[in-house]
Amino acid sequence: MRMSKLYLPTLKEDPAEAEVTSHKLMLRAGMMRKHSSGIYSYLPLGYKVIKKVESITRKHMDNSEAQEVLLPVMQTSKIWKDSKRWDKFGPLMIKFHDRKNREYCLGPTHEEVVTDLVRDEVRSYKDLPLNLYQIQTKVRDEIRPRFGVMRGREFIMKDAYSLDVDYEGLDLSYQAMYDAYEKVFAECGLEAVAVEADTGAMGGKDSHEFMVLADSGEDEIAFCSDCDYAANVERATSKKVEIDFEVESDFEKIHTPEIKTISELEEYLEVPAAKMIKAVAMIADGEAVLALVSGEDELNEIKLTNYLQANELRAAEEEEFEELFNSVPGFIGPVNLNGVRIVADQRLKNMSGAIVGANEKDYHLKNVKTNRDFEVEAFADLRSVRGGERCPNCDSGKLNIKDGIEVGHIFKLGTKYSKNMGANYLDENGKAQPIVMGSYGIGITRLVAAAIEQNNDDYGIKWPKAIAPYQIIILPLGNDEAVQEKSEEIYQDLKAKGWEVLIDDRNERAGVKFNDSELIGIPLRLTIGSRSLENGVVEAMIRSENKKLEIELDNLDQKVE
Ligand code: ATP
Ligand code: MG
Ligand code: MG
Ligand code: MG
Repeated sequence: MRMSKLYLPTLKEDPAEAEVTSHKLMLRAGMMRKHSSGIYSYLPLGYKVIKKVESITRKHMDNSEAQEVLLPVMQTSKIWKDSKRWDKFGPLMIKFHDRKNREYCLGPTHEEVVTDLVRDEVRSYKDLPLNLYQIQTKVRDEIRPRFGVMRGREFIMKDAYSLDVDYEGLDLSYQAMYDAYEKVFAECGLEAVAVEADTGAMGGKDSHEFMVLADSGEDEIAFCSDCDYAANVERATSKKVEIDFEVESDFEKIHTPEIKTISELEEYLEVPAAKMIKAVAMIADGEAVLALVSGEDELNEIKLTNYLQANELRAAEEEEFEELFNSVPGFIGPVNLNGVRIVADQRLKNMSGAIVGANEKDYHLKNVKTNRDFEVEAFADLRSVRGGERCPNCDSGKLNIKDGIEVGHIFKLGTKYSKNMGANYLDENGKAQPIVMGSYGIGITRLVAAAIEQNNDDYGIKWPKAIAPYQIIILPLGNDEAVQEKSEEIYQDLKAKGWEVLIDDRNERAGVKFNDSELIGIPLRLTIGSRSLENGVVEAMIRSENKKLEIELDNLDQKVE
């Protein structure tokens, strides 16, 4: 490509609107322009990088047998009402009516569309497993769009949805995505770490986020000093969350003194441990305590005996909660029926299940249903590891906090959507079973910003080779005809060899050309001037290291790699 023809509006100064490096550089390097808050137009250079990231992503998705589809952006309210998320998503979702006054939204994510699609199509266990993915624009009306494409209101995501007959199948699908994600980020030249994500209500290791460490990151990650434990620490906005809900169904209070392990409890309540927190603790007289266990499968003595009376807690003063938290492992409470108040332990990061107890020792509740799903949101805000805490994994190391950018997220959904929306398959005995699902996202445009956060210097971007918009930039200096001719020859030659090459044929001063080439971060720069030509060499600069070297003209082919 000739730079004289390229639509590349670079900026000399940092734009006032940009706070973080990647945002500044994406604007300065002419990769994109703002259309409206959190909404951008991608210009040729920026779009080229996006397409590279997309094709690397696509390759690894295809390699793991996922199949690409393209799902609607415009989605009916019906499917969101079926899944019970229409109201839950709140103002994050853009909702509107069509000319016939039918209700729609612009898809912030596609679990509903996929579940709706397969509930009509997948009939038998023989149709599964499946993994469907797409690369598409998502729309989320974020409260605080910022940092350019890092938190946009319109952004490109790769989202995948796995569909399996059972949880063993889901484990395999999940692992395949985990592996594919590691490959995608590595091939994009990113250093990303998988951390345990906010499994909150779901428990266990059912979710991982892929984080790029960077000061501008909006997430906090706790790393253990001794073991390889790493987990997202959701920023605590407050210690208390107040949520109202009502009990919908009748439930049974059962006497369960013999229950000593999570698996026994699972059997007794006929609820998988990962789901237990959904059956929020409540008892008939309106008060209850919900206790959670962390890590291991064994419920040890201390945890069982440390159930507290809800009313006891309610009476306690604000400050005393702090003390209670410290004395009761994995405690959450108090909970009461009307106008529920939950005060949760901030250390419940690593729980793998929850036991639901009434405010009486040795009692549990069966079949509790509430009118809303509040656990996930409650947990999201509750944890505030500040660093220095003991590692919940090895118990000996200390937790350190670092900032990170969430570039990917994988999640075991289980049967939540298939049950709510009636997506079943027939098993070998002809019995209808809910499809077991997982969902997997990569923020394509956010990844581009993250790559810049990790690869830049005072002069501009330093693209990792695999996602660079061009691999080589040729800078002919001066008006010397021999220089022009030689540059053109090298340009044609390298292009013919399959390289993506830019040639700065603009009538600009050398300084401008140097600055722009550094700003836009092309990995290899070849400078051709009359002096170097006389010596039969070109001056090369490797942008990643800002290393200069001379390459003999005769050798150019072999040296460029
Ligand atoms: P965040 O915690 O940053 O709000 P999220 O957890 O809401 O992200 P997911 O629903 O997990 O996001 O979506 C999958 C991926 O999409 C995220 O890991 C992230 O890379 C990307 N993503 C999410 N929201 C945005 C956004 N507003 N702008 C750009 N990328 C986004
Ligand atoms: Mg979000
Ligand atoms: Mg997140
Ligand atoms: Mg996420």
